[in-house]
Amino acid sequence: MTVFNEYRLRQEIIRVTRIVANQGLIRSSDGNLSVRLDENRFLMTPSGLYKMSMEPDDPIVVNENGKVLIGKPGLKPTSEFNMHLEAFRQRPDINAVLHAHPPYATALTIAGLPFPTDYLPEVLIALGDVPVANYGTPGTPALAESIQELIKDHNAIILSHHGSITVGKTLEEALVALERLEHAAYTYYLANNLSTPVSLAAEELAHLRAIGNQIRNQ
Ligand SMILES: [Zn+2]
Repeated sequence: MTVFNEYRLRQEIIRVTRIVANQGLIRSSDGNLSVRLDENRFLMTPSGLYKMSMEPDDPIVVNENGKVLIGKPGLKPTSEFNMHLEAFRQRPDINAVLHAHPPYATALTIAGLPFPTDYLPEVLIALGDVPVANYGTPGTPALAESIQELIKDHNAIILSHHGSITVGKTLEEALVALERLEHAAYTYYLANNLSTPVSLAAEELAHLRAIGNQIRNQ
């Protein structure tokens, strides 16, 4: 079992959080990040902290049940700790979970639209299908349940009326998936404002899907 360098991961959480916040993919104290430290310990962003002010010693170490092992007095782990732990439980192959509130991707679910997979080749290759999880009240086990099955086969999921969850071997991988997801939703939004979007041809979609499955399963 790999044991990760906690000091370095604390710095990485701050770096990635600032990138996510600077891009408007989270606002205020929204969103949360976590990384695996070893088999039973996870480092998570605290609840209620303004994200741009977060410092490297603020993230909290919890065990696989969400019990706090190391944390500054007065800080609690993110209220979405259940969803993070569920992702780690279902995916032993991943080491990072990123929950954000990307506006264009989230707006799709408010408008009752699916994620547009069939319009941009690189999205289909890099992300594959992006499902929308059923609505679950934020900060409750219902949200963890909503991703329980979907996270087994997907690295990016949109949470209905709420935001996104992306996972990866590293936080940067989860960040890249989030950026791609939001950029695709934004481009689709622009196309919709111009005219009716035209999908890629069916054979090309099948081709891209096959390439994507091969790359992502490497
Ligand atoms: Zn949220």
